[in-house]
Amino acid sequence: MHSLAHSTTLPQLEAGSVWLVGAGPGDPGLLTLHAVGAIRAADLVLYDALINTEILSEARRNARLVCVGRRKGNAPTTQDEIARLMIEGARDGLRVVRLKGGDPCMFGRGGEEAAALRDAGIPFRIVPGVTAGIGGLAYAGIAATHRDANAAVTFLTGHQTGGALPGDLDWDALARSDNALVVYMGVSALDRVVPALLSHGRDAATPVAIVAHATTPSQRVLNTTLGEAVLAARRAKIDAPALIVIGRIADPALATPWFEPQQDEHAARITDRSLLAAFTA
Ligand code: SAH
Repeated sequence: MHSLAHSTTLPQLEAGSVWLVGAGPGDPGLLTLHAVGAIRAADLVLYDALINTEILSEARRNARLVCVGRRKGNAPTTQDEIARLMIEGARDGLRVVRLKGGDPCMFGRGGEEAAALRDAGIPFRIVPGVTAGIGGLAYAGIAATHRDANAAVTFLTGHQTGGALPGDLDWDALARSDNALVVYMGVSALDRVVPALLSHGRDAATPVAIVAHATTPSQRVLNTTLGEAVLAARRAKIDAPALIVIGRIADPALATPWFEPQQDEHAARITDRSLLAAFTA
């Protein structure tokens, strides 16, 4: 066991190659051995804005760390530019890590980046990560599937380039089904996804949990319903990154909260009722 992290059977990030690495939703303990090995070996790390900086401290002191995500006020690096940086780095003989939040292939454009590397003839590896829609829910005590609640779960993004709702989603089917929905890019999408589901007939009493900053010291969980979610999120000043969980798995009666973020009083598990109490106190 002691040699697991140093095992010679683990693949090594070779010079001239790129690994697309998932870093998980925030808690560094959710990194895989492959992810840690790659970050420690890297000469160049191209990372997204959501990456926990604690994770970057694992990199070698002389490694180049480049943020290619959207930073306040700055436009994010374009996909073409990211592909160019990865490919040029590899051609220069560097060990390149492309570090992404969660899993690289869940709403992370990992597929596109892998295709760019393939087309350029660059050796690459994909290192899966714990996606926020599963790991983040677990830290809120929400099981993505629960025998008493759902036999399927749908992961969707409420957001497309340009901000429109994804056109190819079947809202009728999503609203009709009793199954669970987990919406990525939840904060910006709330105003569109919730009315779309309601207008396609999903019950306003459907339980909703909004999980923000999951797995981090600032994790917050807001329990509400589909009918009240937009207002409740605004009142609670929920900020990104957040997931919206819709369906019976989000019912507090089925949840088993266990994670206590170490933080100020705002980190406490908040409910609509406790918020209202705070407002009227
Ligand atoms: N590849 C990532 C998702 C990238 S899209 C993954 O697999 O998790 C970015 C969205 O992921 C955010 O808008 C948010 O909805 C979700 N997300 C990522 N990290 C999160 C976190 N710590 N807490 C809540 N949501 C998170």
